[in-house]
Amino acid sequence: MPEICPKCGLPKEICVCDLLDRETNRKIRVYLEKKKFRKFMTVVTGLSGEELEKTAKELKRQLACGGTYKNGIIELQGEHKDSVKKALLGLGYPEESIDVA
Ligand SMILES: [Zn+2]
Repeated sequence: MPEICPKCGLPKEICVCDLLDRETNRKIRVYLEKKKFRKFMTVVTGLSGEELEKTAKELKRQLACGGTYKNGIIELQGEHKDSVKKALLGLGYPEESIDVA
């Protein structure tokens, strides 16, 4: 008897629940990075693909600041750690997935 996954009902060998769990348990990190001339950049990591783009655009809109995104990293101009967290919660990211340094 092959072992059956209790979540999806598929044999364990072809089930992807563990992978999906890892996706759900991913961490979004928010931290400040000091730039030249005492300016700060708020950096958000842990997102990718379309989600990265959508989230970056939404954060820029909500915080009314400049910013860029590429290679899984969002950089927002200024200090926005708390506002970024609030905005991410508003976008539906679970609180436990957001790690503010
Ligand atoms: Zn499964």
